[in-house]
Amino acid sequence: MKKKILATLIFTLSSFNTNLYALSFAQTTLFLKGTEVAPKSIAETKKSLDTLSQENLNDLLREFVKGSRPNRFVGSVGHSKSRQFLIDAIKSSDPDNSGMLVVDDFKPDVAWAQKLYRDDFEREVVPNFKPSDPKYKIWKDFTDHMVSEFDQLKSFTGKNIIWEKKGLSKADEIIIVGAHYDTIAHDKKTLRLKTDVEMPGADDNGSGVTIALAMIKVLARMQLPKTVRIVFFDMEEMGFLGSRAYVEKYRTELKQKKFMGLINLEMLGNDTVTGDTKKKSGNMRAYIRKDQEKGHADDAKLVNLINNKGSKFTQVTSFEVVSNSFNQSDHIHFWEAGLPAVTYSENWEDDFNRERYHTSNDFPEAINFKTLHGSYQFIFGGLLSWCFDIP
Ligand SMILES: [Zn+2]
Repeated sequence: MKKKILATLIFTLSSFNTNLYALSFAQTTLFLKGTEVAPKSIAETKKSLDTLSQENLNDLLREFVKGSRPNRFVGSVGHSKSRQFLIDAIKSSDPDNSGMLVVDDFKPDVAWAQKLYRDDFEREVVPNFKPSDPKYKIWKDFTDHMVSEFDQLKSFTGKNIIWEKKGLSKADEIIIVGAHYDTIAHDKKTLRLKTDVEMPGADDNGSGVTIALAMIKVLARMQLPKTVRIVFFDMEEMGFLGSRAYVEKYRTELKQKKFMGLINLEMLGNDTVTGDTKKKSGNMRAYIRKDQEKGHADDAKLVNLINNKGSKFTQVTSFEVVSNSFNQSDHIHFWEAGLPAVTYSENWEDDFNRERYHTSNDFPEAINFKTLHGSYQFIFGGLLSWCFDIP
């Protein structure tokens, strides 16, 4: 999440107690037992989904957060731990190496991110506030601060973690599922980065990581006709630089294949009734490009593919398609490269996780696991239906 940073942060300036969450869990490792499955119907696909319960997702998310304490800020100890956690989790989920695990090193395009922050300031602050306005000063300081933070990342090596399961009969037909694994936290008053605080990042984006890991656990036991690639993006919170490097490296390959698009999982754990302007639960959203924008039709094709079938797997969660070119996650680089993408997320317009977003309070206790599990069933059910051509 980035572009709306300025706007969003200003809403969150009220103070919260720093909640040093203290959680102790029994280490639980999920192994799926049984025989390989190749679902042929909605009912059989549902059975595959049901191998992971709401409780299983709860355990997975808590383990990921616990395994990456105190935070996953780029370059921190927790950030390194989170990478190792993901690698270990993938290996234990796929003990027979049915898929290929790749850790892709990249040099972050720091100059691009610095320009992004400067452009944000010029576009959103300069026309709206006088230089004497305290808000102008805060945002100017914030922009300068971020630009200098990026300077420190010039020699940093980012790592995208990729697991690919190749299709046996239609390998060139491919869908990518993405979820970023890093976190960020800001001081509510100064907007400066807080790099040494507890930042569980349960919603942002432990929720997306959890669903992606759950998919690997199930896919590892299947023989797939088409190719599914799961990518844990690094450095989303620092100018979307992991997905930027990924697209830079693979765009030519993806254009040569029948690439259906990116399904980006971002903040799928917040869903309230009280905080929702519509007083509804389960009303999540799928964000694609605007109607008049080039590529809208490809995004629409992708999201319809998932949603038409996904809705058959759960009554709990639904994803309304919103064509507003939402630009605050990793999908933007796919769009820029002319590749289809959709971001599945919470309802940013009606029920956004504003109070916990980018704070120490983004902890697992605040996650709506019923909705998270519904999201898993919906999105993964849609993906499996595409993969196995479920009628
Ligand atoms: Zn995020």
